[in-house]
Amino acid sequence: MDKRINKLEKDDQLHLQSGQVIVSLATAVKELLENALDAGATIVDIKLTEYGAEAIEVSDNGHGIQESDFESLVLKGYTSKLQEFEDLASVESFGFRGEALSALCILSELSVRTRVASASIGYELLYQQTGELTMKTPVQKQPGTTVTVKKLFHGLPVRREQLAANSKKEFLKLLRVLNGYGIIMNGVRITCSVVSNGKTTVALRTSGHADMLENIKDIFEPQKLKNLKMTAPDADLLEEYNVSQENRSSVYTIAGWISDCEHGSGRNTNERQFIFINRRPSEYPKISKLIAAVYREFNPKDHPFYAVDIQLDRENIDINVVPNKNQVLVQNEKLLLATIKATLRETFRTTPSALPYRAMT
Ligand code: ADP
Ligand code: MG
Repeated sequence: MDKRINKLEKDDQLHLQSGQVIVSLATAVKELLENALDAGATIVDIKLTEYGAEAIEVSDNGHGIQESDFESLVLKGYTSKLQEFEDLASVESFGFRGEALSALCILSELSVRTRVASASIGYELLYQQTGELTMKTPVQKQPGTTVTVKKLFHGLPVRREQLAANSKKEFLKLLRVLNGYGIIMNGVRITCSVVSNGKTTVALRTSGHADMLENIKDIFEPQKLKNLKMTAPDADLLEEYNVSQENRSSVYTIAGWISDCEHGSGRNTNERQFIFINRRPSEYPKISKLIAAVYREFNPKDHPFYAVDIQLDRENIDINVVPNKNQVLVQNEKLLLATIKATLRETFRTTPSALPYRAMT
């Protein structure tokens, strides 16, 4: 066998990479939703046929796509959100790598309909698998963009089979993702409906309130929630977390809501637990474990609902850790953890009924 190093053809490289950018139904829809949000949409409609296995359609009323961008829209590494690597520190959009549409195009049958508000007509666009524009047809359309993804993973039989066989489970994972955006995206109305066997069901409908608590109430029926009261850690906590002298001044804020200590959500799953870093839904196991542990101090029998937004200066985080950007690295993490602990304890301590659980019984 010839073991020499060969250069992979561009198409083969694309094929190999795409399956890692879009790993599941949830990542596919998340990328499309984020594109809609990055386009300034205030209304996003998501329609899933057979729970997304047959078709995903995401429509927005955002700024649309300029005709001069049609050729590059789906090419890998083409983005309107970043000019050079240095811009990453200041990027405010969800996307910035220019990978999602390119990956979706190779993994599915992709079509785009778009219209900028200043144009009188929209266009339907079709692309080759490798992202070259093949067809551009004028269509009547409201301003905004609709991206349709049919037969996701059709070229990856194992994953396609997985998706079809577990479509409801995959859909529930997606719903958790959408709930996160529903909570944090003030002013954006998100609807997600499922068409299955010809029947349409609305799985999520948010009203785009200007306030996190109202958004939460749209989606969940939470028991009593407490507003987090951001509190600096005292000397003992700083010691416990080994925070060095020079790292003791905080550069972030913590805000959000958590079940009070008598009314947990009753579930030990992450379905009802949300962490946001600079309004980006994120997974942060160290923080979720910490919240669980502090909650147990006050209520050992139950698990809280929570939605916690941590705001940091962009220089203090690295969001480019995994392709879907839901994991971040935070500078001075120890102080952040100590502050979260102090914040939770203070939040519960100041509830009149929030005596430590043992004392209540
Ligand atoms: P990224 O979001 O990282 O830039 P994508 O592949 O997701 O990469 O999208 C490529 C580009 O296509 C975006 O930078 C944006 O300019 C444009 N785009 C994608 N979706 C939309 C949309 N719904 N509305 C307007 N522009 C869009
Ligand atoms: Mg994107």
